[in-house]
Amino acid sequence: MDYKEHIKIVENWPKEGIQFKDITPLMNNGQAYKSAVNDIIDYAKKRKADIIVGPEARGFIIGCPVAYALETGFVPVRKEGKLPRDVIKVDYGLEYGDNILTIHKDAVKPGQRVLITDDLLATGGTIEATIKLVEELGGIVAGCAFLIELSYLNGMDKLKNYDVFTLMRYE
Ligand code: AMP
Repeated sequence: MDYKEHIKIVENWPKEGIQFKDITPLMNNGQAYKSAVNDIIDYAKKRKADIIVGPEARGFIIGCPVAYALETGFVPVRKEGKLPRDVIKVDYGLEYGDNILTIHKDAVKPGQRVLITDDLLATGGTIEATIKLVEELGGIVAGCAFLIELSYLNGMDKLKNYDVFTLMRYE
C-alpha cells in the first residue's frame, strides 16, 4: 500500500516554516489505517514486545490498536499534570516548543520488553524522552515504531542503539 497517498502535507502549520504531516486522512481510511496498524503489529511480534508504550496523543492512535490486537496492554506517556498517580517525568525539546512527559511509576515492570509507538519521528526529542522514562522504570526498549520519519530532522541519530521501524520516510 502507498501510505503516502493518505498523508496530507500542511505548509506553515502550526508555525511558520513547519511542514506538518497530517495523518488524519490515513486514519480516516479504514483499509489504510488497518494495514498500517497491521504492519506495526507484525513488527511488535517480531520484536517480542510484552507491552506497548506511546506518548500522547498520536502515539495512542498507533499503539492502542496494536496493544488490543496482541493483548499486551498499553501504557500512556502524558504531559505533566495528566496522570493521576505517582509518576516520573522528563523534560525535552520539540521541533516546535518544549514539553514535559510523565509515566506512572508502576506502568512498566523491570525486564519487560517495550515497543514504543508514535505517529512521526521528527527531531527525536519525544522518543528519546519516552525511552528515558521506560528505561528508568527498568523496561527494555525492544523497538520503536513510527508511521513517518522526517529524515531531514535527523531523529534517527538519537536512536542508533535501538531497533526502529517506520512505514514512510520524507527526505
Ligand atoms: P520530535 O520529538 O521532534 O521527534 O517530534 C515528534 C512529535 O511531534 C510527534 O509526536 C509528532 O506528532 C509531532 N511532530 C513534530 N513535527 C511534526 C511534523 N512536521 N508533522 C507532524 N507532526 C509533527
